[in-house]
Amino acid sequence: MTSAVVVGSGPNGLAAAIRLAQSGVAVTVLEGSDRPGGGARTSELTVPGVLHDDCAAFHPTGVVSPFLAGLGLDRFGLEWVWPDLDLVHPLDDGSAGVLSRDMDVTLASLGVDARRWQRTFGPLVDSFDDLLAEIFQPVLHWPRHPVTLTRFGIQALQPATWVARRWRTEQARALFMGAAAHLFGRLDRPLSGSVGLMLTAAGHRAGWPVAKGGTGAITDAMVGLLASLGGTVKTGVPVTSLAELRSGFDADLVMLDTAPAGVLSIVGDALPGRVRRQLGRYTYGPAAFKVDFAIDGHVPWTNPEARRAGTLHLGGEAAEIASVEAAVARGQMPERPFMLVGQQYLADPSRSAGSINPLWAYAHVPHGWTGDASAALIGQIERFAPGFADQIVATHVRGPAELTAYNPNYVGGDISAGANTARQIALRPRVAVNPYRLGVDGVYLCSSATPPGGGVHGMCGFNAAEAALARL
Ligand SMILES: Cc1cc2nc3c(=O)[nH]c(=O)nc-3n(C[C@H](O)[C@H](O)[C@H](O)COP(=O)(O)OP(=O)(O)OC[C@H]3O[C@@H](n4cnc5c(N)ncnc54)[C@H](O)[C@@H]3O)c2cc1C
Repeated sequence: MTSAVVVGSGPNGLAAAIRLAQSGVAVTVLEGSDRPGGGARTSELTVPGVLHDDCAAFHPTGVVSPFLAGLGLDRFGLEWVWPDLDLVHPLDDGSAGVLSRDMDVTLASLGVDARRWQRTFGPLVDSFDDLLAEIFQPVLHWPRHPVTLTRFGIQALQPATWVARRWRTEQARALFMGAAAHLFGRLDRPLSGSVGLMLTAAGHRAGWPVAKGGTGAITDAMVGLLASLGGTVKTGVPVTSLAELRSGFDADLVMLDTAPAGVLSIVGDALPGRVRRQLGRYTYGPAAFKVDFAIDGHVPWTNPEARRAGTLHLGGEAAEIASVEAAVARGQMPERPFMLVGQQYLADPSRSAGSINPLWAYAHVPHGWTGDASAALIGQIERFAPGFADQIVATHVRGPAELTAYNPNYVGGDISAGANTARQIALRPRVAVNPYRLGVDGVYLCSSATPPGGGVHGMCGFNAAEAALARL
């Protein structure tokens, strides 16, 4: 029987493990941390009974992921729940851009830009499943939906700042730029429009849901499914070398759910020189600074729609977002960083304890930044919700160094396992027809450092497992 060891139990490691186990491979997952899940874990970080998502919170890419959708994870307890409004981007004048899975709700918030918004996103939403089939795999492939891909590609190649210019209202521009800022990089560079176009279209197609009970429920369901297929997950086992794996497990396949830095340290000299040099040149992007709040009651947002939103983007107007993201990419910490706020408890009240609710937040800060951004995050929330600070009952803070300690894939606090530069969006982690292969017999990379990149969708793991199965 063919056997495999998967190093790392993030969503991509588990996806690879499940895909291999479905094909009859005997799979063991080794996780360095004491709990499985990587970026998909939920914990009581502040007040007993209050559930916080340690990392990922919203799942626009998870709910549309062809692989996750086909697994029947509901049989293992996964239930998606949606907030009233998927995403709200409040502005200083009290107005907001609103993203809803019901496109009419969005159009109603965008005034004179409604038609242009419809013209941009209507066709993408209509052909979304075909589009996803193309962009959830490596760039270098023979397209099955060339028209859909070309229509998306022409827009996605543009800088986000260019895409935003097609709208006249600040509500539309800022709404788009907030989604584009998930890129974690300069928004005036080619291809930087791609992430905003995809996440917005995904929002109109299926919303930005949360997992009932917390993102950890996705991990629990995947671990449950893997166990039903005969696979096992061992926690508290940090892997340091390929030799250790080869002697301990004698596996035919090794799947690495690690950043390229992890590949270099685990596989090291066994890598062909060309691959080692390519991975050595791989770059990491800006960092996250995460603060989880326990708050008494609800955030007093000035904008009424913001009080119904699952996700909020805080950063003001489109030009301000482009400017602070450029500063962060240059290594400068802005006074008012772009930040994301999550009110998952509105869709999933089981995460609260009485009147105490969990509020999830993180800001974009420079790579490896060592300062304390807590006050900047509170200030940014106060900007759109005066009086917020009075409601804070407890906080839990993780800067870049703590994030790296929490998960070695977050090099310098980069939660995307690699910078989303134009080159690394297109060819991740290196120029190769099959980016999952590492040039060492039976060893594959399956983390979000491979296409299609970050997010809890499992597609990197699925694609890597397919590559391994094809080779077998
Ligand atoms: C603050 C934050 C917010 C986010 N928000 C969202 C969101 O809202 N929606 C979304 O879709 N995504 C979000 N993400 C991103 C998402 O979590 C990641 O893209 C996703 O988890 C990547 O999955 P992965 O399997 O590639 O790697 P990871 O989830 O990082 O898992 C890798 C695992 O491998 C383990 N590992 C690494 N090296 C070793 C080793 N040598 N030995 C043993 N184990 C090892 C790690 O401990 C970890 O458990 C967020 C991330 C963060 C940090």
